[in-house]
Amino acid sequence: MSLPTTVPAAQQVSTLRVDVLYTGGTFGMVDRGDGLGPRTGIGTEIEALLDEFVRETGIAADFRYAEFDQVIDSANADPDTARRIAAHVRSGLGTTPPDGVIVVHGTDTMAYVGARMAFELRDVPMPIVLTGAQVPLGDPGSDARGNLHLALNSIAAQPGPGTFLAFGASLHPAVRASKRHCEDPDGFSTLGDFTPPPTPPALPAARGNGTASPVGLFTVFPGMDSDLLDAALRIYHGGVVLECYGAGTMPMFGSTTIEAVRRATGRGTPVVVITQCDGGAVDLGLYQPGRALLDAGAIGGGDMTREAALAKLAYLDGLGLSHTEMCRWMATNLLGELSNSPSTSWSR
Ligand code: ASP
Repeated sequence: MSLPTTVPAAQQVSTLRVDVLYTGGTFGMVDRGDGLGPRTGIGTEIEALLDEFVRETGIAADFRYAEFDQVIDSANADPDTARRIAAHVRSGLGTTPPDGVIVVHGTDTMAYVGARMAFELRDVPMPIVLTGAQVPLGDPGSDARGNLHLALNSIAAQPGPGTFLAFGASLHPAVRASKRHCEDPDGFSTLGDFTPPPTPPALPAARGNGTASPVGLFTVFPGMDSDLLDAALRIYHGGVVLECYGAGTMPMFGSTTIEAVRRATGRGTPVVVITQCDGGAVDLGLYQPGRALLDAGAIGGGDMTREAALAKLAYLDGLGLSHTEMCRWMATNLLGELSNSPSTSWSR
């Protein structure tokens, strides 16, 4: 199933109930002389935009507005930000849940945070829609109003449960979204096919003490130092998304990089290989470096985006899975983040 690139017309809903959570980002920023920075206390301005939506569409609506305890430039999002926003969203659902939740967020990490929220909130039966802006609210040419209205329209159109990004003219499934332009009002792209499984697989229950280990992302490049990769694999011992070239290749430098991966998987650190390309999927059976990575214990990440792969790795790590379980579930399509079955062997 692919989502339409434009948002369908709003359905007839009697009273649309929407929770709006403001977490920061350019949407509400001001420049106080030292560059754009986050601003708190924008409830009245957001309320005015919500009222405009009601007047323009004739859809009666009931809004609840809240500001997150940390209103930030989303470049400062830490590994726990998405999990805390998801927990806030969940805690607000209560006994009379809204028709949907809008999270106003900075664009820089919206796809990372959105993807993590998609995993955290995968059991929530209503749409969660993140939105933001390239130009602050009130500035000439601002896209803040249009994006907030798009998010509202998306919820009124009842897209079904799931976490989405509403931006420019499109609604993107969070596990497929990536920021691909830093000025254009259509700054996000949906990468790959969004094909969620008809019945989401049941994951093992969380166990352990819930302490998250650090997970990280490492991009390969010509001339990369294998010591740098080795250091990344030691620091991010909870797991590393290895963003390789093309079908899943990287410089082998003899085999120093591969040996660093082998040592990491031997220590129980999952290494998930994805591609730097915007289309196609990793096929670790195709080239010698890919086969060497497989032999060293790496997991093929198929066509997952870097944001979804990192979010999934962190989410699964938080469940306290064993290394074997981690390998299995990283290679399983949970929410539509993975459309091809990644190659786990090279017998072709
Ligand atoms: N640096 C800003 C942020 O991510 C950019 C934006 O919102 O567009 O918070």
